[in-house]
Amino acid sequence: AGAALFLGAVTLSACGANDAEKGGGDGGSAGTIALLLPESKTTRYEAHDRPLFEAKVKELCSDCKVLYYNADQDEAKQAQQMTTALDQGADVVVLDPVNGEGATGMVDEAQGQDVKVIAYDRFIENADYYMSFDNETVGRMQAQALVDAMGDKGDILMLNGAPSDPNAAQFKAGAHSVLDGSGVKILEEYDNPDWSPENAQQWTTDQLNKYDPAKIAGVYAANDGQAGGVVAALTDHLSADKLPPITGQDAEVAAIQRILAGEQTMTIYKPIPIEAETAAEVAVLLAHGDDVPGTTETGITQSQYKDVASYIFTPIVVTHDNVADTVIADGFYEAADICTGE
Ligand code: BGC
Repeated sequence: AGAALFLGAVTLSACGANDAEKGGGDGGSAGTIALLLPESKTTRYEAHDRPLFEAKVKELCSDCKVLYYNADQDEAKQAQQMTTALDQGADVVVLDPVNGEGATGMVDEAQGQDVKVIAYDRFIENADYYMSFDNETVGRMQAQALVDAMGDKGDILMLNGAPSDPNAAQFKAGAHSVLDGSGVKILEEYDNPDWSPENAQQWTTDQLNKYDPAKIAGVYAANDGQAGGVVAALTDHLSADKLPPITGQDAEVAAIQRILAGEQTMTIYKPIPIEAETAAEVAVLLAHGDDVPGTTETGITQSQYKDVASYIFTPIVVTHDNVADTVIADGFYEAADICTGE
């Protein structure tokens, strides 16, 4: 449920032969849409965001073309990709920036050529549209699950995301709002400069050389990639059945497997189909110069986030007890993906 989303009849008419100014000027429905994603170590981008986005664009507009780029966490490379996309005739850009603040120049470059920009998942203040999840709530949910699993006591390590990613500050603020008033104490806290599992593993290993591993009563990891690094570091010192509560985010296959094996406490499922498909719908409308209606058929309403027209979706906690009712019931995974994915 929840995967199918339509902005209504407008979307369909957008693909009709009624738009001569854009998309080649032949009165056809073509449009070129660029999708720029930030990195590929986190599995969501290549496994979910990209294919869901491309499929939805194709469904709405068979003549539309998607130009896809992944920046591999390199800001300069992403800026170059923006220039390339514009040179290739992109009518709209969907941009998930490596650096949210640093991306304003890229947005200016596009807008200077009358190309609209959708800030995808990570906020950019001068974008035309923004879509993401409620990211402070993500942080609160992670921290609350950790505090609960720890019985509101004990020492934790805390691994946040990259400071260049505006979401990371929101996850962190949400998590602190719960942790700071709790009985749990933060022993050490780390802002992972690139979100990578490798850095998460190295930093955790360094902490385990400073502190008695048996005294680490929990780990706040901001996403599943980092949680994987944390588990790798901890299992050098502890057997897998002695791992403390550990959080995550993204409902990566490996994380769901760890949750079922008792090696990770929870993850956050952000239904990426809603995000990717809404982005595709808005992008197709913009590519054809059509208005973007305020509400989707499934009732998601456009709001404002810091003055940008926004679509904000709701994150879902996944634990051992509700894997079947969440990622499986939603069709995000089939049971076989989780059972054979390792
Ligand atoms: C996304 C997360 C992702 C992280 C690392 C964040 O902006 O919201 O889903 O795990 O970036 O790529």
